[in-house]
Amino acid sequence: MTTPNFESFGLNKALLQALATEGYTTPTPIQAQAIPDVMLGKDLLGIAQTGTGKTAAFALPILHRLAENRVAPLPRTTRCLILSPTRELASQIAESFKTYGKHLGFKVAVVFGGVKYGPQERAIQNGLDVLVATPGRLLDHMQQKTLDLSSTEIFVLDEADQMLDLGFVKPIRQIVSRIPTKRQNLFFSATMPNEIGKLAGELLKDPVKVSVTPQATTVQRINQSVIHVEQGRKRALLTEMFADDNYTRCLVFTKTKHGADKVAAYLEAGGVQAGAIHGNKSQPQRERTLAAFKAGKLRVLVATDIAARGIDVDGVSHVVNFELPFVPEAYVHRIGRTARAGADGSAISFVAGDEMKLLRDIEKVTRQKIPATDRRNDKSLGLLDQSIMAAGVGTKATMPDREDRPRGEGRGRGRNPHRDGVKPEGGGQPHRQRKPAPGRDARPAPERPAFDPMARERPRSTGNNDPRAAVAAKPEGELKRRPRSRRPSNGGKGYVARG
Ligand code: AMP
Repeated sequence: MTTPNFESFGLNKALLQALATEGYTTPTPIQAQAIPDVMLGKDLLGIAQTGTGKTAAFALPILHRLAENRVAPLPRTTRCLILSPTRELASQIAESFKTYGKHLGFKVAVVFGGVKYGPQERAIQNGLDVLVATPGRLLDHMQQKTLDLSSTEIFVLDEADQMLDLGFVKPIRQIVSRIPTKRQNLFFSATMPNEIGKLAGELLKDPVKVSVTPQATTVQRINQSVIHVEQGRKRALLTEMFADDNYTRCLVFTKTKHGADKVAAYLEAGGVQAGAIHGNKSQPQRERTLAAFKAGKLRVLVATDIAARGIDVDGVSHVVNFELPFVPEAYVHRIGRTARAGADGSAISFVAGDEMKLLRDIEKVTRQKIPATDRRNDKSLGLLDQSIMAAGVGTKATMPDREDRPRGEGRGRGRNPHRDGVKPEGGGQPHRQRKPAPGRDARPAPERPAFDPMARERPRSTGNNDPRAAVAAKPEGELKRRPRSRRPSNGGKGYVARG
């Protein structure tokens, strides 16, 4: 069988030109399976997660179809609507549409919560070809009649299972009820819990089904290791690792928002440029930090799990699990931030004694034993700790504080997150094993796709060439956080442009 290429799909020349500029030569498995059918206008059910190339799998054929039947969009309407669960993913999808469609002259916009309405309203006002949105803010625009979906021809629901986790299924039904029934539907989800299966059944008409299960292949491509280290030694160990120039662009995961801030501050104090991204940061703060990381101004981005879904950053060389996640599946998501789109990468997990059970759970889910590297020399780490303090950079925020200091250094008692008020992001109970969301335990065993041009034979030992990475996102949650009564008003005359 010959390997398909983008030309063989018969895609619009303007798209092929943009793909050539991007350096895409070979379609990923989901692209090879989805693009021809979506170009024909068929509905699609895609079981795939980020990192598989799924955005281009729907963006390219959608842009092709819009270009084949070019009409000027009516004011306040959009020809294509894409729903995304998080702000960062929405921005990323809109960026992809702009990149692939750059020679087509389409109007593409993105709307999500946490930012002003005015610029979004102005973007929608003259009509759009493509609108990417999170559900809460989209509903707001619909209710304010600044957006009308009555002439939408193509509807995409991305990351449907995350939508369920974030409580967006009802808003989605409300949104869909306002789109004409004669439309093309594309539905993507990494897993298919019952409620998502039901939603897919309601939305899709005779869909083509494509499934790529990248978890096993992604995990196999990543050079994984474990370092057994006491909790109190972790920050010093991390700082020491950055003496190695191979750690060019690193994503560090912590369990808590508070922990993310502390680790970032500690690294900064040790001379490593670092920033933190988590749910307590404002949208502009998050965007600034992410932009600095993408631009290479920050060598390290410290993130919590919720903050780290969906954002695509090129060339992440290493993922470090400063603490293991509560849910083993989150480990797979985390390390998948390196080794994007076929590249290789490294993932290192710091495992303290009380995290051994979490490690065993992860090994069960990934069906592999993660090798332990040689334990670092405790003494040198202690010295490093002391040198940081001696340099006078140990402010309250940057010093290893009491609960993180090793025993025998004035710590006195064991780490107690309840006592210290350390909460995992998402409000769960610290240090307690969380159960997977309903339906997640029914996840099918990962298997290799039949055709995978991205797959490599063996994990590489160190370093990383051209990986793609995703850091991501705070749930949009706009419906709950901004009651309508607090929205800006101009005395019932509708919205005026603000900001
Ligand atoms: P996604 O799964 O859509 O988040 O895509 C993951 C990453 O793969 C993104 O950074 C894309 O730019 C990249 N990508 C998508 N398709 C291809 C392709 N055919 N060749 C190379 N890179 C790709």
